[in-house]
Amino acid sequence: MVSLNTSALNGRVTKVCCQCGLNVAGKLRTRDSVGNYYCASCFQAQHAQELRDMLAAQMPEPELWRKVPLEAYAVYA
Ligand SMILES: [Zn+2]
Repeated sequence: MVSLNTSALNGRVTKVCCQCGLNVAGKLRTRDSVGNYYCASCFQAQHAQELRDMLAAQMPEPELWRKVPLEAYAVYA
């Protein structure tokens, strides 16, 4: 798959977290399906929330579950 972006056109590929702007070249990073890079902490933060929303929606009282720490869901995972 060829991805085209301006940094590649400059002949220099920069890997920057799309959330906080941290340069993640050479660091632990994640790339999503559309090619955005995330540093480890942003990825974790973002996906923890997604996971919580998803799990909370399956609970009898989603609004309450949305407020509990992610760890509390472990028993249901
Ligand atoms: Zn980041």
